[in-house]
Amino acid sequence: MKKDISIYIHIPFCVKKCAYCDFLSAPACDTTIEKYVDRLCEELRRYGEKYYDRRVITVFFGGGTPSLLSAAQITRIAETLKSSFDIDEQAEISIECNPGTVSYEKLTTYKHIGINRLSIGLQSANDNELRLLGRIHTYEQFLQTYNSAKDAGFDNINVDIMSALPGQTIESYLATLKAVVDLQPKHISAYSLIIEDGTPFGKIYADMSLDTDSDTQTHKAEDKTIVDAIEYPSLPDEDSERQMYYLTEKMLSEHGYHRYEISNYAYEEYECKHNLVYWTGGDYIGVGLGASSYVDGVRYKVTDNLDAYLKEQCVYGDGATANVGCAGFEYEDIMPLSVEDKMEEYMITGLRLMRGVSKSKWRSIFGNDMSVIYGDVIEKYERLGLLETVEEKKDVFVRLTRHGIDVSNTVMADFLLDKTDE
Ligand code: SF4
Repeated sequence: MKKDISIYIHIPFCVKKCAYCDFLSAPACDTTIEKYVDRLCEELRRYGEKYYDRRVITVFFGGGTPSLLSAAQITRIAETLKSSFDIDEQAEISIECNPGTVSYEKLTTYKHIGINRLSIGLQSANDNELRLLGRIHTYEQFLQTYNSAKDAGFDNINVDIMSALPGQTIESYLATLKAVVDLQPKHISAYSLIIEDGTPFGKIYADMSLDTDSDTQTHKAEDKTIVDAIEYPSLPDEDSERQMYYLTEKMLSEHGYHRYEISNYAYEEYECKHNLVYWTGGDYIGVGLGASSYVDGVRYKVTDNLDAYLKEQCVYGDGATANVGCAGFEYEDIMPLSVEDKMEEYMITGLRLMRGVSKSKWRSIFGNDMSVIYGDVIEKYERLGLLETVEEKKDVFVRLTRHGIDVSNTVMADFLLDKTDE
């Protein structure tokens, strides 16, 4: 039987850079985008020769803004995928779409080429919040995209929303939640805004926190090339942020969504299969600029230098010696994982899932009882009420409690093993 693999395809282009974004994405001209699609197809073909003995169970077009590509470009990539790999008939094939970049015609093309799941970036139903984020769309444009997707025959749709936005109130966040649940998408991803260094927001909000004299707590962005010169309100305080976080689970569960991962909610049977591969230690290859892969116990990524990616490499790169990636492309951060690394990752990513980490699966992968490695740390957090061990469906799972989810980063950090002797 063929071994499973998943494929992530990175499209690193956006109409314009949002003020909070630290993803690998930027605007680009048509010529660059076309060249990029050529290289992407080449990388897929070469990977296909290498993994002809694998069965592809999920594909995810992420970005950036994959829906920025023309229908012809996406079709070309999808056809290359199909001719290069053995794609399972039931494979989940998702694409991220941003309102303002996708038409009904493009959506019908997606349907026609076998894409069966859409992930639409709404972020907020409040136009002022969208403007402050630097998004290019309005709520009305999102609605048009959502309705066109339904008309084009898409049933499996995710909507991304965000909390803790500049100027956001509990009421405005509730209005976003309500607007989304009224549409009944099958899946909702709800993340809190993180202010990242090196982004326009990183600068604006670092300056604002230093500006203790400011009564209004607003900031006029100075770099007009990146962010519109508008007044930025302060971020919600910690208490409001917490309330938004709790309201998310409450409102979504009242509307039939079950939380299956810290930030992800779905109707039964509509969990994102591709992300589950990441969270359960499955094999995947990342194709395109900066994309990460994890195959046969080795983690690595494609170069994040666009010029290097667009150029055929005359060497086989480090990938050849470590047997990662494919010839003619540059890979970096190649890291074969030790058994300890794999155990850590398995626990830390597995604890993100509400069902927790299966003890029987652990035993089948690592050949020992989870308590041999993690008995003490599990016991410690059980005593503190942050972890629990539960029997379910003839298996035993270790998982975060409700309180444990609130401090998940602290708990997870304790699952890092001492590897000083290595
Ligand atoms: S659309 Fe997404 S990837 Fe593109 S700049 Fe905005 S946040 Fe970043």
